[in-house]
Amino acid sequence: MQETPRSSRGTRSRGALFSLVGALCAFAPQQASGQISGLSTADSLLTREIFAELIEIPTVSSTPETVVAARAMAARLRAAGFPAEDVLVGGNEPGGNLVVRFRGTGEQRPILLMAHLDVVPALRSDWSFEPFVFREEDGWLFGRGTTDNTAGSAMLVANFIRYRREGFVPNRDLIVILTQDEETSSGGIKWLMGEGSEWIEGVEYALNTDAGGGSLRDGRPLDFNVQASEKVYLTFQLEVKNPGGHSSVPRKDNAIYALTRGLDRLAATEWPVQFNEISRAYFQAGAEIETDPAVAADMLAATDIPANPEAIDRLAAANPYYNAVMRTTCVTTRLEAGHADNALPQTAHATVNCRVLPGNSTDEVARELARILDDDQITITRVNDPTPSPPSPLTPNLMSVIDDLREQFWPGVPIIPSMSTGATDGLYVRNAGIPVYGVSALFGPEGDIRAHGRDERVGVTAFFESAQYWYLLVKTLSS
Ligand SMILES: [Zn+2]
Repeated sequence: MQETPRSSRGTRSRGALFSLVGALCAFAPQQASGQISGLSTADSLLTREIFAELIEIPTVSSTPETVVAARAMAARLRAAGFPAEDVLVGGNEPGGNLVVRFRGTGEQRPILLMAHLDVVPALRSDWSFEPFVFREEDGWLFGRGTTDNTAGSAMLVANFIRYRREGFVPNRDLIVILTQDEETSSGGIKWLMGEGSEWIEGVEYALNTDAGGGSLRDGRPLDFNVQASEKVYLTFQLEVKNPGGHSSVPRKDNAIYALTRGLDRLAATEWPVQFNEISRAYFQAGAEIETDPAVAADMLAATDIPANPEAIDRLAAANPYYNAVMRTTCVTTRLEAGHADNALPQTAHATVNCRVLPGNSTDEVARELARILDDDQITITRVNDPTPSPPSPLTPNLMSVIDDLREQFWPGVPIIPSMSTGATDGLYVRNAGIPVYGVSALFGPEGDIRAHGRDERVGVTAFFESAQYWYLLVKTLSS
């Protein structure tokens, strides 16, 4: 999951936060009684119970526990009336992916609903309490995976059970996929896009619970992110070879110096700025809620046609995230050289990790890297096969549904389209030509990002709001 770091952003004045869970006093004692949009006590209990069950299964990527979790969710879905042939536990090893198809009338093409079951490891010694025990305290729900991305898995399963109980018949098939290894190999989603593709036949677009979300400042919602694009991951290995020799007789040619001179040139290079529909919208919407008028003006000037280069430079200097949104980046992440204290180095290696703007040619990035390093002694090898991921179009029909519901839940909070600088399973779905929208609707305090870290938590209110937002969003899109 990607979080969007931001600079200072203003808090809009608005009415009291519309609380969907006001009646759920047992879970949200801090909430005043508020309007309820169909989240009954029974439904909230179900959603919470599933969440707790998943948190307490330590589904570290690709371990057998992912199979346990997938089976537990499959059992619940079958018990709720989903036919066994529409519920799959399996896929790539160890077989801990869950796919479930909710059959509709077929008037429209299916929608894919995404989350991942796996979590990154968590050590008891690093945490203030047991990471794989579900814990509620002071309006928070704690546990490894609470934000990334078990809340998403829990609410997708709970909402499917709710629809089934209510006798809801969607006008299109709805397909939930909970993958087992998003945090590592993405093998589950790759399997689904390949060997398992019969399960997602005809999908029009995907909604991903593992991206998007919103930030809270002093408990008030600031922005609502819709992730519609991801950068492309591309790693290179650089190598310089040299005959070496005795360090008591240094020579002018030296593997380490040759490599580091090239890396210095890389460090000094800014890649060209390029905007797409998503990054342009990110800055334009961001300007609306930016509290610093100079930064807001730069956000608009940077996306002007023609762009203002000084504004771009100021934004890039002010915030590394803004810089990463505007351009491809390549950075040295590892360095290894030499074999003895008293020998001239015979090899020097560096790893350069690039995050390529979608739509840019990775071959072109490789050629540009060679041009920047500017030394024939440095050999460049690609470490991974990049998966191109075109930005998903901000389709007005879909965006208006997302936004109308956003207005019901979080009035006045602007939608900020975003491009992840990292990657999720959505990358592989976009690569297959299916648009993906990361719209977790999970709010958390600005700057308090605990995914992959210690004492991971989600607010009780945020969790139930997100679950109910998704319940209505998917229902609206399939009615
Ligand atoms: Zn995630």
